[in-house]
Amino acid sequence: MNLHQEDVSFESSPYYNPNLKNIVLLATGGTIAGSGENHRTTNYEPGTLDFQALLDSVPHLDRLANMAGIQVSNLCSADITGSHWLTLASLINRLSLRDDVHGFVITHGTDTLDETSYFLNLTVKTDKPVILTGSMRPATALSADGPLNLYQSIALAVNPEAHGQGVMVVFAEGIYSGRDVQKVNTFKANAFDERDFGCLGYMRDAEAFFYTRSIKRHTTAAQFDVTGLTELPKVPVAYFHVDADPGILDYFASTSNGIVIAGAGGGIYSKPWIDKVGELKENNIPVVRCSRISSGITLKDAYIDLSANSIPCNSLVPQKARILLSLALTQTTDYLRIGEMFHEY
Ligand code: ASP
Repeated sequence: MNLHQEDVSFESSPYYNPNLKNIVLLATGGTIAGSGENHRTTNYEPGTLDFQALLDSVPHLDRLANMAGIQVSNLCSADITGSHWLTLASLINRLSLRDDVHGFVITHGTDTLDETSYFLNLTVKTDKPVILTGSMRPATALSADGPLNLYQSIALAVNPEAHGQGVMVVFAEGIYSGRDVQKVNTFKANAFDERDFGCLGYMRDAEAFFYTRSIKRHTTAAQFDVTGLTELPKVPVAYFHVDADPGILDYFASTSNGIVIAGAGGGIYSKPWIDKVGELKENNIPVVRCSRISSGITLKDAYIDLSANSIPCNSLVPQKARILLSLALTQTTDYLRIGEMFHEY
């Protein structure tokens, strides 16, 4: 998307109020922009309504913020790609330089929202609020949850307390960090959580109540710079299970720059996989070891063979570890340096 800073205007809005903050809505699709049979929560199509329809569904916006929208895509979030992430990071990085842009809200499908939020948490270079949200029920469903989620996301984006806290997610009255948020339910409206870490706080109507913050490096303190990148280093996830064929690692090694393994327990895998990971290290294909369990941590304290040739993921889930490894590979293939990043981010 080739959009210039000047293309976004707040003053052209019919209810422009110079006393309110200016927020950019970046709409990417998802169920929040979905429609289907009246009142049903199933059998709908995600990504059919544009950003203006989403804004029109939010009551009292004229008392909350001046909004300008950009339709980045209108997709089910399974079709979001690294290229969309680079577009979002570049839009936010350029627009955040403008004094009259005070924050961003991104509407997104819920299925990969936790991945996009972590990627942006590591790559946007601003302290201005960047809030992601979505919905579990399409706009046409009974008790659609999109309007409240969007309303509260905009309310958080104008809140001074949201500054410098990294990318956040607002969903079902919870505030979550872009690093730790995870989708934890396939259909309930309250579908997000941080598992071991709870949440950063709560929204009640337009008010935010914070109780904790993410201490890992993010946004302006992160070392990654994706300016000018057109694609990201390839990092797939190999899922280990009983009798898992180590041949999948050969295939991934021939098509990728690094590999994340979703191991069993504390990130372990079988002897044939351990041998294969040793070969990958000799061929300079870094392997990050995660757990298929989404609670607890994976550290260098596992068996000696495992620890020698792989980088433990700390507390990241596999789909987030692959983002950090991909960004790390834009700078280095050194195991020690990558290992440090998995502690810092
Ligand atoms: N499949 C949809 C998506 O991720 C689900 C949702 O938005 O809730 O785009």
